[in-house]
Amino acid sequence: MPENAIVAENLVYRYGDLVAVDGISFEVAEGEIFSFLGPNGAGKTTTVSMLIGQRRPHEGRALLLGKDITRETPEIQAQIGVCFEVTNLYEEMTGIENLRLFARLFGVRDLDIDALIDRVGLTGRAGDKVSGYSKGMKQRLMVARSLLHQPRVLFMDEPTEGLDPVSAEAIRNIILEENERGVTVFLTTHDMQEADRLSDRVAFIDRGEIVALDTPHNLKQQYGKRMVVAEVRGPDDRREQREIELDQSDTPEKLQTLFQENDVVTIHSREASLEDIFIEITGRELA
Ligand code: ATP
Repeated sequence: MPENAIVAENLVYRYGDLVAVDGISFEVAEGEIFSFLGPNGAGKTTTVSMLIGQRRPHEGRALLLGKDITRETPEIQAQIGVCFEVTNLYEEMTGIENLRLFARLFGVRDLDIDALIDRVGLTGRAGDKVSGYSKGMKQRLMVARSLLHQPRVLFMDEPTEGLDPVSAEAIRNIILEENERGVTVFLTTHDMQEADRLSDRVAFIDRGEIVALDTPHNLKQQYGKRMVVAEVRGPDDRREQREIELDQSDTPEKLQTLFQENDVVTIHSREASLEDIFIEITGRELA
């Protein structure tokens, strides 16, 4: 049995009177992509900061690769890669200088920096100062930096937030490639489509608590409604939309009536999205 890469046991964190993380527990198996999904202020970043040893939990504990992060922080940090949205790169240095500097700090030898730069799509710009990089380029450099020491666990906090589609896709592909090499990935996002596509399991977090945790498939099975969406020709040739819920006792009757009483132009089925399910469980939207 592979060991769990991450174990969170009843984590609690408060900022003064505000309970930002309110008794969160979960386990992430080695080699899994696990996503934390929730709206702004749900407690995602605070949880990650406890998992990586940046903040000490007020209650509970976090085990990383089998060890308590508060007790063995440097040993564990040598095996994890962290990519936070807020960039902390040296702007007056070039991309390659940043990577060389961090490689030295991390004690990394035998590293093919050019290959890493190529992987994140910065070839040709690696010799330019970071101050002239776009947000997407800086984020790609952050991803490269988090991979310098070939971590076993990768933490990515909103890695594609606000990026152009090309940079976002490049980062998603790197997440999948790393995972294929056996790296465990802990991802926080409020992009439900991204989470659906990348994750083995997702946890919905709302107001500091986990409100659902499962594979995207099981969440859809458990909470999601399957719908038929039809476009019908209305008065004055205007198109109108009709929705019928599938899997109900009156679904066949409703579908029959739809065709008998309307001129149906198009029809297709629609699976519930993780966004729909989040709203169903919490009564609140993600954004
Ligand atoms: P986002 O998606 O906006 O980053 P999040 O889910 O990561 O949100 P956190 O940043 O963990 O949420 O914040 C959880 C709660 O704690 C929020 O109400 C936030 O305002 C509050 N909070 C976060 N950092 C601090 C801080 N340094 N001091 C006081 N309150 C904080």
